[in-house]
Amino acid sequence: MIYTDTRDSSVKVDFRTAVMGGMNPATGGLYIPVEFPKLDKSILNKDTAPSFRDIALNMARPYTDGEIPEADLANIIQDAYPFSPKVTPLDSTSYILELFHGPTCAFKDFGARFMARAMSYFNRNEDTPLHILVATSGDTGSAVGSAFHNVPGLDVTILYPDGKISPLQEKQLSTFDGNVRALKVKGTFDDCQKLVKTAFTDNELRGKLRLSSANSINIARLLPQSFYYMYAALLVRNRASMDNKIQDPAIIMVVPSGNFGNLTSGLIAREMGAPITGFTAATNSNRTIPDWIATGDYNARASVETYANAMDVGAPSNYERIKAMYNLEEVRNLFASYWTDNDGIMTAIRNCHEKTGYIIDPHGAIGWKAWEEIKNNGFTAKGDYTKPGLTPNVPAWASKVDSNEAIGIILETASPAKFGSIVTDAIGREPPMPARLEEVLRKKDRAISMENDYNMFKDWLIANL
Ligand SMILES: *Cc1c(COP(=O)(O)O)cnc(C)c1O
Repeated sequence: MIYTDTRDSSVKVDFRTAVMGGMNPATGGLYIPVEFPKLDKSILNKDTAPSFRDIALNMARPYTDGEIPEADLANIIQDAYPFSPKVTPLDSTSYILELFHGPTCAFKDFGARFMARAMSYFNRNEDTPLHILVATSGDTGSAVGSAFHNVPGLDVTILYPDGKISPLQEKQLSTFDGNVRALKVKGTFDDCQKLVKTAFTDNELRGKLRLSSANSINIARLLPQSFYYMYAALLVRNRASMDNKIQDPAIIMVVPSGNFGNLTSGLIAREMGAPITGFTAATNSNRTIPDWIATGDYNARASVETYANAMDVGAPSNYERIKAMYNLEEVRNLFASYWTDNDGIMTAIRNCHEKTGYIIDPHGAIGWKAWEEIKNNGFTAKGDYTKPGLTPNVPAWASKVDSNEAIGIILETASPAKFGSIVTDAIGREPPMPARLEEVLRKKDRAISMENDYNMFKDWLIANL
């Protein structure tokens, strides 16, 4: 596969360059495949339950073709996914796609674990490790740390702001041994990011250590997230006539979004033939994309803090990829979009629990609420886009909602236990704690204190890596 760049379509690189580089340093643009080959009809048309790893292997093949042999790719998939996504029916026209059954209990495990193994593969003939530096405000760091733990040839240093992340998040970052370590920096998340960025531009340091990043814009995190869209859409299409008496449903993927990587992965799955009719982008008060869909003007802005904090992104990077794939009119036809504030998040968690019995996390709750609005009120109540609610555009699939042929699949991006205190405040009881989260709470904290000072950070790296 050839990969091009969102800012310069004359750029042509291979998968290895796109994965190891992360972004194009010459343009600042993001890599994107030049085409999205359709998945084989024998898989798309099969009417039995698909296997997640089968789908993953078949979807990954064209993007790695000629660079990762089939047997190695199969090993990567096998090793990355000892767990699967789960589809749970909620009511007659809604399903939940649970993406939190991986080691860190959030959907980022799907992307990070594939990326780690692809990087390890490309690094296999080097005699020195590749050093990954990551600054994190919470969730990304734990997914990356866990995904790279004990993966050969790779070495990870996570920087996080001391005292500014939740105790559970801190445990999830700071208890690794071996090739993954955490530095708690006396500063903010922005300070951590600055230390990492300075390291990447420090030629003296780069002469001593091979450095790379692992952030969410990497194409090797985006592509594998398309696997579960395909899996869920095929599964629900095959079950819908039995579960819901709907023969040929219009499947709408409802995606809690921040940086819009997850939603972009859904667009890739649809291009590859997944039976997905449309999308609903669900955001918190960081409503840059809903505002763009409403007004046609894209205005990146500073992020604001919310209860759904993994979506606190004011300048979503993947806007560039969405724009490279579709124009505004196409987006308005394909997407509904919805946003809500903290009060809306609390109400949504509570209402979802009261109506369905399902305990949902603050991110998934926004998606649930968006789909409730669409199901119950359709697109008739076009409000003021600056108030919480649906954005006043009518997607091409609106009539399918009116005729009860639309089924929403709401992506549940994290286990509610990761946001236990918010969920407890909303529903009056604690969500169940998965064993692997409980375990991490008992592990020894190994974080190393670091001043917010570049020279001290650099000296530490040279002395310890
Ligand atoms: C990262 C994250 C999101 C947002 O995903 P994007 O790809 O950035 O849109 C949503 N929910 C949870 C729990 C996350 O960790």
